[in-house]
Amino acid sequence: MARRSGERAYRTRAALGIAIYLALAFAPLSLMLLSPLGPARAPLQEFAVALGFVALGILGTQFAVAARIGRLKAPYGVDAVYYFHRRMAVVALGLAVAHPALLIAEAPGRIGLLNVVTAPWPARYAVATVAVLAGIIATSLWRRKIRLGYETWHAGHGLAALVILVLAALHATGTGIYTDDWKISALLFYLAIWVAILGYIRIGKPVAQLRRPYRVTRVERESPDTWTLTFSPEGHDGLRFRPGQHAWITLGRSPFSFEAHPFSFSSSPNREGGGFDMTIKELGDFTSTIGTYGPGTIAYVDGPFGAFTTDRHPATRYAFIAGGVGITPLMSMVRDAADRGDETPISLVYGAATREDLVFSAQLDELSSRIDLATTYVLEDPPQDWEGETGIITGEVLERSLGSVDAYEYFICGPPAMIDGVARSLEDLGVDKRRLHYERFEIA
Ligand SMILES: Cc1cc2nc3c(=O)[nH]c(=O)nc-3n(C[C@H](O)[C@H](O)[C@H](O)COP(=O)(O)OP(=O)(O)OC[C@H]3O[C@@H](n4cnc5c(N)ncnc54)[C@H](O)[C@@H]3O)c2cc1C
Repeated sequence: MARRSGERAYRTRAALGIAIYLALAFAPLSLMLLSPLGPARAPLQEFAVALGFVALGILGTQFAVAARIGRLKAPYGVDAVYYFHRRMAVVALGLAVAHPALLIAEAPGRIGLLNVVTAPWPARYAVATVAVLAGIIATSLWRRKIRLGYETWHAGHGLAALVILVLAALHATGTGIYTDDWKISALLFYLAIWVAILGYIRIGKPVAQLRRPYRVTRVERESPDTWTLTFSPEGHDGLRFRPGQHAWITLGRSPFSFEAHPFSFSSSPNREGGGFDMTIKELGDFTSTIGTYGPGTIAYVDGPFGAFTTDRHPATRYAFIAGGVGITPLMSMVRDAADRGDETPISLVYGAATREDLVFSAQLDELSSRIDLATTYVLEDPPQDWEGETGIITGEVLERSLGSVDAYEYFICGPPAMIDGVARSLEDLGVDKRRLHYERFEIA
């Protein structure tokens, strides 16, 4: 495809981002190691304290990793960043537990520090930090099992993260390790950076969104449970996005509310006037009401985000594989290719439950007369007169639809189970993992 942004520039940014991450995660430890140092203590004790400072650094950086800041996430992709965020929370918990465990191993009498009734305050803060951290991880892992709604979990998660940071700071500054005033000030400044990031996300961003509102200008039913909404900027020039990206939408509410949902752009990015479409399937509390938001509804938009875009992966042939409403970002890529008269062949394999669930089939058929697009529809529950593929998208379906499977760069979007199944089938067929790009319609 013609328009490309240098993949090398993304790699450089990715490497720079990792270097900055490491510097920030190890900043509390580095600070501790600067002169003046306290009197030397047992090596195991020093090691245990060092682990505590690394845990503090990781906990702080979690604010930046989770924050919805497109520029930070762009080189890696949103999925990968949230995956890293979840893993690093567990690493921080491991370090936070190892820190007192090693101190107790070095001097077993310290076990009394775990008794929150009798222990000094800094030790109590440490116990509370570990307890809240364990709680935040447990509620994230088992949110669905304990039937915790996404919005409640999200709000509680942010608040608990702030509590952890304050408790950890009280512990670190209260134990007397940072004996010098300037080290305490430097540590507090470091921690203030993370609080500032939270403030930016919760206050700065909504204020910016209030200044750039959108209105729903069209609502169209695409299938019994899927709707396309057109958003038009009001009093500003809209946003620029890449085909395949997504944004967070707050519909009919204040941008300060926690009710923002991520949706992919389904329109071409080349539309005049800065407006765009999103195609939304009814699924849960919010989306099941989507058809009730009529034209005129105010909307706030946070985005664009995401690295799921052909712009970043030049190829001589693309395979787009969609499950259900996962067609949306791929539709944006197809429409973009058509707008630009791009002649790169695209093979689309599009699975849905029933024929009625195949949104955009008429548009796709029309677009295949304008660009080199071949679509294979796969229905789980086909009508009697259906002559196409049936069942789910398996390796055999992919081989029949695509022919030589190594010829393509793959873009796969849909529910997590479908993505995992398709990726496994392609890997079994010998496709290099690096040619598979995903967008999961699920964050936590
Ligand atoms: C990158 C991305 C792009 C997406 N693009 C589309 C799209 O183009 N079309 C479409 O129909 N759907 C899309 N989704 C899915 C859509 O965001 C969810 O279906 C929607 O947020 C569900 O909200 P609900 O309240 O109706 O359902 P609920 O029953 O409350 O939630 C169902 C699941 O959706 C997820 N979810 C719910 N609320 C949020 C939220 N505020 N933020 C993040 N995840 C949430 C959670 O994993 C939750 O378990 C996308 C998701 C992601 C992550």
